[in-house]
Amino acid sequence: MWTLVVNCGSSSLKFALLNPASGEQPLSGLAERLGSDLASVRVDRNGDPVTVPLPRGSYAQAFGVLLAELDALGLRGAIRAIGHRVVHGGDRFSTPVLITPEVVEVIRACVPLAPLHNPANLAGIEAALATFPDLPQVAVFDTAFHQTLPEIAYRYAVPASWYTQHGVRRYGFHGISHAYVAGEAARRLGRPLPELSLITAHLGNGCSVTAVQGGRSVDTSMGLTPLEGLVMGTRSGDVDPGLPDYLARQAGLSLTQITAALNRESGLLGLSGLTNDMRELEEAAGRGNEPARLAVDIFVYRLAKTIAGMAVALGRLDALVFTGGIGENSAGVRATTLARLGLLGFRLNEAANARAVRGQGGPITAPDSLPALVVNTNEELMIARETAEVAGEVVGRGL
Ligand code: AMP
Repeated sequence: MWTLVVNCGSSSLKFALLNPASGEQPLSGLAERLGSDLASVRVDRNGDPVTVPLPRGSYAQAFGVLLAELDALGLRGAIRAIGHRVVHGGDRFSTPVLITPEVVEVIRACVPLAPLHNPANLAGIEAALATFPDLPQVAVFDTAFHQTLPEIAYRYAVPASWYTQHGVRRYGFHGISHAYVAGEAARRLGRPLPELSLITAHLGNGCSVTAVQGGRSVDTSMGLTPLEGLVMGTRSGDVDPGLPDYLARQAGLSLTQITAALNRESGLLGLSGLTNDMRELEEAAGRGNEPARLAVDIFVYRLAKTIAGMAVALGRLDALVFTGGIGENSAGVRATTLARLGLLGFRLNEAANARAVRGQGGPITAPDSLPALVVNTNEELMIARETAEVAGEVVGRGL
């Protein structure tokens, strides 16, 4: 009945115990800054959050805290399957898969494509396999949803051998979220997903936009790595590919230093010199801070341009969906983005936009507008559902 969802980041472990059918979630938690003196675990047991320090804690120790919590609730034995979020599955996985030693090896082979994320995902898988050797464990990939991209969308105009020999192509990310909100948007619009052409904008600390036709991803803004595309919290998004060579010669920086700066010191943080946090930037801009205002304006301008470009992939557009921390909470980003997209037929309903914050979601456009709506993403629930489906099939086949 219960599915445990594990999502390991480069120094974090997020977990949730869910009923995939009802969405009920008696336990969730987040271990952060693992490996540092400041490591801690926040556990939310039936809506009652507690934070405990875990100095220099490892993934395995964070897993130990999770086990103690499961035992305290008497639910360890009630877990039927474990679902792992895995960032990069290369072009090998277009659906969630049961984790076998071969699958672990493919995830390991994808480490060069996601050097920060895949090793952490593997650490989570290893810890879970050691603790629950008898349960079906399923890998749910961030890249899988985008495996339906046509070749015109996933190929770069670079030497073909880079693609055939080194896998240089666009993969796309945030697929679990884009797939979830597309399905949820169809439900809210009261129309079958296979009939809809949607653009989904996942705007969190990482940001991406996807064109979803009939429930399948046909183009997306992230590429070989999650650095391509939109302006993000600390990531630059698109820059001139000539930039690294120019900067290496002008500033004497190494490729490693430039790549690290494009990933960690750019985006909203780099532009504002203040923070990667959109809420803080909007507050600073409101107080007259010009770099903060510019950072927000560039974020919105590039977002609107990318959304308009995605319309090309669809031919027809039925609705635009906002999700992620910024998409769900920033009425300002949504309003200014739609204002730039009037040519596509969007007209904001200001009152509805102001209401669609803090967990509610809902439509944000006027009756004569192309619909735009806010859908709160729920990657844990999506992972739990897909895990239960794969594990159910496994049980059904008597494996
Ligand atoms: P996520 O990665 O999905 O958790 O999203 C994180 C981003 O959401 C950060 O930039 C936050 O500042 C932003 N965010 C969260 N709440 C708000 C809010 N009320 N207004 C504006 N941005 C917000």
